Amino acid sequence: MSKELIRFENIVKDYDGQLVLKGINLSIEENAFVTLLGPSGSGKTTLLRILGGFLEASEGKVFFDEVEISQTPAYKREINTVFQKYALFPHMNVYENIAFGLKIKKEDKSVIPAKVEKMLRLVGLSGYEKREIDTLSGGQQQRIAIARALINEPKVLLLDEPLGALDLRLRKEMQLELKKIQKEVGITFIYVTHDQEEALTMSDEIVVLNNGEIQQIGSPSDIYNEPENEFVARFIGDSNIVPGIMLDDYAVVFDDHQFVCVDYGFEDNEPVEIVIRPEDFDIVSVAKGQLKGVVTSIIFKGVHNEITVKTDKRDYIVHTIKNFELDKEVGLFLEPEDIHVMSEMSAY
Ligand code: ADP
Repeated sequence: MSKELIRFENIVKDYDGQLVLKGINLSIEENAFVTLLGPSGSGKTTLLRILGGFLEASEGKVFFDEVEISQTPAYKREINTVFQKYALFPHMNVYENIAFGLKIKKEDKSVIPAKVEKMLRLVGLSGYEKREIDTLSGGQQQRIAIARALINEPKVLLLDEPLGALDLRLRKEMQLELKKIQKEVGITFIYVTHDQEEALTMSDEIVVLNNGEIQQIGSPSDIYNEPENEFVARFIGDSNIVPGIMLDDYAVVFDDHQFVCVDYGFEDNEPVEIVIRPEDFDIVSVAKGQLKGVVTSIIFKGVHNEITVKTDKRDYIVHTIKNFELDKEVGLFLEPEDIHVMSEMSAY
């Protein structure tokens, strides 16, 4: 078990009567890559700013290493932030930008060059010391911003949509890079994004936020495979969400067919919602299918085709690498672990 580093206790933030955080309780472990994921306006940045010390909560407490820091000024917290706008100093070169924090701290001058060099190596920009900021690409500037934040050896790095301004290819490259940097420096990264794919790629743990409330906390595979409510299921990838009845432990009915599932602990005959990921369907012959339907649309998505299969009851979105023709009759088959049952109560 890792050690708890940060704890939010019942954090409420109220802007003139508008509750943007509604009682956040969250514990973050040492050395973890944690992502706050949610749609725009869900309160991610507000929570990050409260942790950074840039904003005071209306209610609640923040603890760092068991010590309450709710009133501690930002500069005394062992936390640094990287913003989407890199906020580098345009009149200083790369070396001066990275060394800035150490100079402010009055670090012994003789150790600064080696530390700057180490940081440049960490972000893959060795030899860039003398470059002027405006000669660097967006991705390079962001790396410098990360180096500048890490040279102070904070225990936590906060990253607020740091890749938002980069193009898709560069963003993907930087996602992997950031994860590597985090493992190498071995500190806690708290990352804010509205991009679910980004969160799934990088995080050890994802905290899904909506409307100022935590919807679910879990590993990427927990969040993806076992969404706890309809909001999470819909937000993380395209899901089929289908009403059904839980007959008994491990037995659920939907679309007039009884399926074996891995879920249990519901009331007998409880109305439920079933989440099925589009890639979890097997397309089989009509005779072998648990459900039967007709292909009514086909969209080429690069690595797979997204097809719609219309049964008597509804449309299912199915991802497949095979090619199908419109109007073809197909069977759909689901293994028990492909069926995720949610209580109707948790529907968003
Ligand atoms: P996110 O980072 O998830 O996009 P934010 O934390 O930035 O969300 O914002 C949450 C809500 O708080 C939004 O509805 C936003 O309009 C509101 N908000 C943020 N800052 C202020 C402010 N200074 N004054 C009033 N409302 C604000």
